[in-house]
Amino acid sequence: MKKEALIVGAGYAGSVSARVLAEAGWQVTILEKRNHIAGNAYDYIDENGVRRHQYGPHIFHTSSQQAVDFLSRFTDWYPYEHRVLGYIEGQLVPIPFNLTSIDRLFEQEKAEHLKQVLTDSYGRETKVPILQLRQSSDPEVRRLAEYIYEHVFKYYTMKQWGYSAEEIDPAVTGRVPVHISYDDRYFQDSFQKMPAEGFTVMFRKMLDHPRIRVQLNTEACEHIRIDLSQQKILVDGQVFDGLLIYTGLIDELLQYCQGDLPYRSLEFEIQTHEGDYQPVGTVNYPTPASQHPYTRISEYKKLMRPDTQPKDRTTIAIEYPCVYQRNGQKGRVPYYPVFTAASRAQYEAYRAQVAGMENLLLLGRLAEYRYYNMDAAVVSALKACEAYLD
Ligand code: FAD
Ligand code: UDP
Repeated sequence: MKKEALIVGAGYAGSVSARVLAEAGWQVTILEKRNHIAGNAYDYIDENGVRRHQYGPHIFHTSSQQAVDFLSRFTDWYPYEHRVLGYIEGQLVPIPFNLTSIDRLFEQEKAEHLKQVLTDSYGRETKVPILQLRQSSDPEVRRLAEYIYEHVFKYYTMKQWGYSAEEIDPAVTGRVPVHISYDDRYFQDSFQKMPAEGFTVMFRKMLDHPRIRVQLNTEACEHIRIDLSQQKILVDGQVFDGLLIYTGLIDELLQYCQGDLPYRSLEFEIQTHEGDYQPVGTVNYPTPASQHPYTRISEYKKLMRPDTQPKDRTTIAIEYPCVYQRNGQKGRVPYYPVFTAASRAQYEAYRAQVAGMENLLLLGRLAEYRYYNMDAAVVSALKACEAYLD
């Protein structure tokens, strides 16, 4: 095979792969349908002078030294630990729900008792997914679990996914377990830092290599077709015998031959306000849709190094989840795979169709149909390319 790679998508999966292959001597072309690099991590300075993440707030956190080592070649970092408050019974309390949340929501004697009950069952400094907490053998723990479920998970999950927490894969709500500790950080990873000049600059440096060519505004599926009967890749009708790394939607690549895979989308309402808007970077609204039709509000400047952001103005993004519709008026970006038993089986059916194609790698959140955080997308791409080059 020629050392030539065609990569679809300039997000983490595509850009990390491009860099690794280029450094191994490959000639790489990236096709990206948007007018910018960096995928959903894309950021820029907006009209208020705020660094805005166009596709929703992105906070880098990882426990993978491999991801840190790779990305640190293209950026410096500043420390940032994300803290989230949730609107519960008219108050703003820490999320993930933790011992401080209990102190805020219950009168003192009751709070002490509940904290003791939780600690007796699970120990201190532990994390328990809500669905597990609800199945505790202790009726007092179960009562508290029902309270947390009702006030943190029930409506947020319904708004976010259009499914209840019981219907969706347990790993989804398991991302935000109840913390039996006073650690009110949203993430507990050992490395919690943001790229000093933002994500887009980091990507620009990653892609700055003489053997990488990036072609923006290019819808790859107008050029690439998989001939399933011959197990061949066709580019503009010609057989392509280089390596194709595809990081877009697998159902789109295979012309929806197994039906549309379900994805969840978001619409962002952007507002400008004077001064500051809220006490932390993100406030969650785990309330019924009739009360707050959105899931969370993020104030971008609170995620950034304060000395780089304006003091007199601020930009916020209000997140409204919705169904993904590829040809719809709204919900046109497939942000999240929707995990149910049926959607996983459908995805596997797609994968099976190209399982024997050695010059096709499916990578990233969309093509692998995985709920990857940024670091996981980096690690998956590094591993796949290393294995391929071996
Ligand atoms: P993407 O970033 O989606 O990149 C795929 C690229 O491929 C896109 O640029 C797309 O335009 C392009 N593409 C797709 N199809 C085609 C085609 N047919 N032709 C040409 N180009 C194509 N992770 C964290 O670690 N921390 C966070 O705080 C965080 N917050 C998030 C918030 C939101 C609202 C969302 C949706 C995700 C968040 N993530 C977060 C996850 C993060 O966005 C992903 O892990 C990461 O973007 C995955 O990279 P990727 O390369 O797989 O996909
Ligand atoms: N979740 C919830 N209430 C919250 C926060 C999270 O019910 O206040 C659930 C919800 O189902 C959500 C999932 O936990 O989709 C994962 O949350 P996370 O913050 O990781 O979502 P993301 O940032 O990826 O959108």
